[in-house]
Amino acid sequence: MNIFYAPPNQIRGNQIELLGQEATHVSKVLRYREEDAITVVDGQGGWYEGIISRILRDSIQVTVQNFEKKPRRDPRLALALGIIKKRDRLEFAVEKAVELGASEIVLFRSEHTVKENVRMDRLESTVLSAMKQSLRAYLPPVTVVPSLSNLIDKYKDAKLLVAHEKKEGETGVPGVLKDSGELVLFVGPEGGFSEDEITLLKNRDSEIVSLGSHRLRAETAVTAFLSQFL
Ligand code: SAH
Repeated sequence: MNIFYAPPNQIRGNQIELLGQEATHVSKVLRYREEDAITVVDGQGGWYEGIISRILRDSIQVTVQNFEKKPRRDPRLALALGIIKKRDRLEFAVEKAVELGASEIVLFRSEHTVKENVRMDRLESTVLSAMKQSLRAYLPPVTVVPSLSNLIDKYKDAKLLVAHEKKEGETGVPGVLKDSGELVLFVGPEGGFSEDEITLLKNRDSEIVSLGSHRLRAETAVTAFLSQFL
């Protein structure tokens, strides 16, 4: 099964217009025909089942027959990830985060961040294809913030969970935390969190979480951390 993406401004009443790569994918790659059934999501929980009414040169017209609003998962899980230097590893981490249900992804520059610039265009297409591949109706926003403290300010009333390999004791997220409203899961970059950053997070009464006694790559930690909420 394939699903396709149309932002809300391309949806009017029971008419949807697919444009750009989505339209090309439908008509040129998958060679859909007029009257074929098709499913479209709007990235905000809308799930539309319909029929292709027109295939034009660079757009596809869809007539909606059935609409469903998919519920947002609860708790909402934001991933706060230190910018990983290696681009393909960063894209891998972002792709897994979407597949595993992150509601949004915030990349932060930490004291140990080696790399400055982020290829946002590539991250956005990674997120879009991961949403479609995992048949999700929500398109998680990806943003970059300049520092960890700026990030902490952004989530005043969320519960912060910090994956830190220096935490002794039991592994995993305490059950009680799994049902609270919004959680922010922090994973550091290759060089980990600095002592100051851990102090900053502890001062915000973060829960420090161990993901086992062995050191994981940041992108592996993202997967291990988020999969605890499945
Ligand atoms: N600080 C180490 C490794 C950092 S690994 C170093 O200096 O090389 C990158 C991130 O993955 C860490 O900041 C942490 O968030 C997460 N991580 C890796 N292994 C982990 C473990 N066993 N438990 C909890 N978090 C871990």
